[in-house]
Amino acid sequence: MQNRIFLSPPHMGGDELKYVKEAFDSNYIAPLGEFVNRFENSISNYTGAKSALALSSGTAAIHLALRVLGIKQGDKVLASTFTFIGSVAPIIYQNAEPVFVDSDNSWNADPNLVEDAIKKEKPKAFIVTHLYGQSADIKSIAQICQRYGVVLIEDAAESLGAKFENKHTGRYGRFGIYSFNGNKIITTSGGGMLISDDERDIEYAKKLSTQAREPKLWYEHTEIGYNYRMSNILAAIGVGQMEVLDKRIARKREIFEIYKNALSDIDEIEWMPEIDGSFGNRWLTTMSLKESNPFKVIEALSKENIESRPLWKPMHLQKIFKDAKFYGTGVSEALFNSGVCLPSPTALGDKEIEDIASIIRRSVCNSN
Ligand SMILES: *Cc1c(COP(=O)(O)O)cnc(C)c1O
Repeated sequence: MQNRIFLSPPHMGGDELKYVKEAFDSNYIAPLGEFVNRFENSISNYTGAKSALALSSGTAAIHLALRVLGIKQGDKVLASTFTFIGSVAPIIYQNAEPVFVDSDNSWNADPNLVEDAIKKEKPKAFIVTHLYGQSADIKSIAQICQRYGVVLIEDAAESLGAKFENKHTGRYGRFGIYSFNGNKIITTSGGGMLISDDERDIEYAKKLSTQAREPKLWYEHTEIGYNYRMSNILAAIGVGQMEVLDKRIARKREIFEIYKNALSDIDEIEWMPEIDGSFGNRWLTTMSLKESNPFKVIEALSKENIESRPLWKPMHLQKIFKDAKFYGTGVSEALFNSGVCLPSPTALGDKEIEDIASIIRRSVCNSN
């Protein structure tokens, strides 16, 4: 059997080890050091954000955004239902109430439902996800949030480098977050970044991320913080990964094109759209099937030792959120029941992707 093909495994560029060794040689194994600053600067320069804070995970970044905003018990926070749990668990950490909004045919949050939910629920904030590296209709969403005084937090964990009208996802809200978990478009093995144009917000988030120490020589605490900062060693990996980010995006987009071209004659298949005005990073190539059973595809690939998965199970369908309010039309549920995430490793060659496409073709065409 061939080596397992994963959905989106880490893909080092080559200089990461050199930077990790520099960190070792300087003995900055201890949490903070020059690479943390360099990684933050690199993300700031790349996205255009005024400040960036390197953290232990994307989930931690969302949690800190909510803490900085003072979200607490009794507050409502709106969130995309079609997302990963890390996007919304921090609402519960803060004892606030999540309210979920469905997707439209962009697969991302439906601006009409967002406005409807904001009018009725009066949430303090909206956490919008840019799914699978594709920008949501973020300009409209940002305008709606502004009109009603709702703070926008962009979960761009999967969409580093994706843009809407040439502005990076993560830059439309008061806060944006990125993840460097092992399967993301670039990785530090684990990590996250909080960005904002408000330097005071980031300063406060930084304080909270390092156990909320007061600026005293001794350990003085007047509030409770977290141990959420990224280590210098992992930041060294991040600095190396930033050097190849644009290459990775270009390859992810090519992978999408290879699948699309190879399967273009199959009407059954619909691809996640790249909405007008946007540029996606195509972190994962994702498709939905009009009639066939997506598990047939997943099984057929699995037999060849190739990983694929259903799309994210919407949050409003999760048992832990069975009592949460939901504004929806059924779009994300239908996608969950019909969709597949296809293997999208940037290190694979064209031929390997075409071979995977052939397996998909056979399983789709034989399952009717
Ligand atoms: C990966 C991911 C997160 C969380 O990131 P971690 O770094 O794993 O904590 C949040 N939201 C979405 C949509 C993600 O895909």
